[in-house]
Amino acid sequence: MSAGWLRACALVMIGLFSAGALAAAKQPTAIVVGGGLAGLTAAYELQNKGWQVTLLEAKPGMGGRSGLATSEWIGNSKAQPTLNRYLDTFKLATLPAPEFVRVPSYLIDGEYFSAADLATKQPATAEALKRYEKTLDDLARSISDPENPAANSTLFALDQLNVSGWLDKLQLPPTARQLVNQQIRTRYDEPSRLSLLYFAQQTRVYRDVSDRDLRAARLPGGSPVLAQAFVKQLKTIKTSAPVSAIIQDKDGVTVKVGAVGYSADYVVLAVPLRALAKIQMTPSLDNQHLAALKGTNYGWRDQLLLKFKTPVWESRARMSGEIYSNTGLGMLWIEPALKGGANVVINLSGDNARLLQAFGDKQMVDQVLIRLHAFYPQARGAFTGYEVRRYSTDAGTGGAYLAYGPGQISRFWRLWERPVQRVAFAGEHTDALYPGTLEGALRSGQRAAGQVVDMSNGKSFDPAKLAPVAAGAAAAAVAAKDSKPGFFSRLFGGGDKPVDNAPAKPVDAAPAPAPVARQAPAKPAPAAKKAPAKAAPAKKPAAKAQPVKKPAAKPVAKKPAAATQAKTQ
Ligand SMILES: Cc1cc2nc3c(=O)[nH]c(=O)nc-3n(C[C@H](O)[C@H](O)[C@H](O)COP(=O)(O)OP(=O)(O)OC[C@H]3O[C@@H](n4cnc5c(N)ncnc54)[C@H](O)[C@@H]3O)c2cc1C
Repeated sequence: MSAGWLRACALVMIGLFSAGALAAAKQPTAIVVGGGLAGLTAAYELQNKGWQVTLLEAKPGMGGRSGLATSEWIGNSKAQPTLNRYLDTFKLATLPAPEFVRVPSYLIDGEYFSAADLATKQPATAEALKRYEKTLDDLARSISDPENPAANSTLFALDQLNVSGWLDKLQLPPTARQLVNQQIRTRYDEPSRLSLLYFAQQTRVYRDVSDRDLRAARLPGGSPVLAQAFVKQLKTIKTSAPVSAIIQDKDGVTVKVGAVGYSADYVVLAVPLRALAKIQMTPSLDNQHLAALKGTNYGWRDQLLLKFKTPVWESRARMSGEIYSNTGLGMLWIEPALKGGANVVINLSGDNARLLQAFGDKQMVDQVLIRLHAFYPQARGAFTGYEVRRYSTDAGTGGAYLAYGPGQISRFWRLWERPVQRVAFAGEHTDALYPGTLEGALRSGQRAAGQVVDMSNGKSFDPAKLAPVAAGAAAAAVAAKDSKPGFFSRLFGGGDKPVDNAPAKPVDAAPAPAPVARQAPAKPAPAAKKAPAKAAPAKKPAAKAQPVKKPAAKPVAKKPAAATQAKTQ
């Protein structure tokens, strides 16, 4: 029992402390749904602020997409500042990355090329790649504020285009185009499915970050090590607890896992959009959110870990870091340190991954082995096994990560950054600057935790006073008049009119949300009305958001998921 609570009880007894003030002393409660890095961060931050937090994760294990995607190579504090801060907090040591992983390399028709090799042995391809990078950099520079990428009509128009059409205009030689396609589909999605504005905005975000910054260090064990560090800090985690419904009312939120209901003051919903679409929300989300759930594009990237007795690739190649292949092999990533042996992670992405969905795991691996064997004849003999992780068809993920398609920034920009009543959203897909990354997931968890605290302090995130989006489009139209002539000619080598190859409804883009101070909250925070709960002892998992019995109208806990209550280690 906390000292504060004892003191409050004593003061009530002697009539010096009102019941309202007593209620206000109650420890605020939150439920975090989703045990990926976003949910873990939100839970950790709220717990550190004195909140009683219960984390519900659908799967038996924690960490979400940081599972097999165990890239041990991570960025420095310039590339991933939040990630590096948490590594410091948890005292997780990293090692400097060896030089050969710090720049991308290429596998062209089975032959390995470092960037330097390419310049001497395939100068036409190297030149074309340089030209592509320069044009892309020009495009990225046209975005002055990556947090508001569609700031004028010219930029807004880029969102209606796809990347493939833009690449066509560059007329790259075939090999260069294959390599560029591979890089884009690995990092985002198939170029034909990707908004040109999103591609430009992401390039802008990373403009001052070199490839060398992106793979500057190695975290032995990879991102699951970070996930476990969070798990160790958290008091209450329930695994194998898939949330099916969230019911909000004026006093709080009930989260249902099958027949069991958990109550809290606030919820952080840290699941990917496809998983969120399966959770029944009461009251329902509005049409814009529903459209975003249905329509937001996720990149496809599935991973195959192929295990060999000994390395089968040419030793000079080392084959570590990002290696872009111009054949159907996708991006390769040799992980000598991962799980022992000589392992290669093959990332099948974009439409290559979509095509292979028709295959079972074994056939998928066979298809890849056939290609690898063509280059490395010992491959079959040395092959010992595989692991496959299909993020794209996993119901808890529904894709690798967010990759806005044409027209989607215009419609859904920063939509999930704004809480809906008592629910704040987290997850890589909710971060404006670093979606699709560990950094984005961590940042989103921090932001959502902050919003929950703000809400409990009386701040409102209601969109009431936000400018209608149509006004944004009108402003964009005015800006169009002011935009410099020749912009599109320079970028696309064509006329100034953007090619309308993606039907998209302009407008209803959500302006960036900002907390709006609620006018003098008349009542104490809703949590204060409830009967006070016992404060948890400092280190022990305890009562916190137990399945609760509620009045008839509310969900009733039939039985706790006993098997899954243990804190996951
Ligand atoms: C193949 C691949 C490679 C990647 N490589 C890198 C990289 O090199 N560097 C990098 O920075 N990032 C990389 N990423 C991205 C990074 O892994 C993700 O951005 C990050 O892990 C996402 O974290 P999250 O918490 O937002 O989502 P998730 O990790 O997906 O967490 C969501 C959790 O919610 C759970 N859940 C879903 N539905 C429910 C429900 N109804 N009830 C309860 N729980 C539910 C899920 O099981 C999951 O555990 C990669 C991703 C993939 C797929």
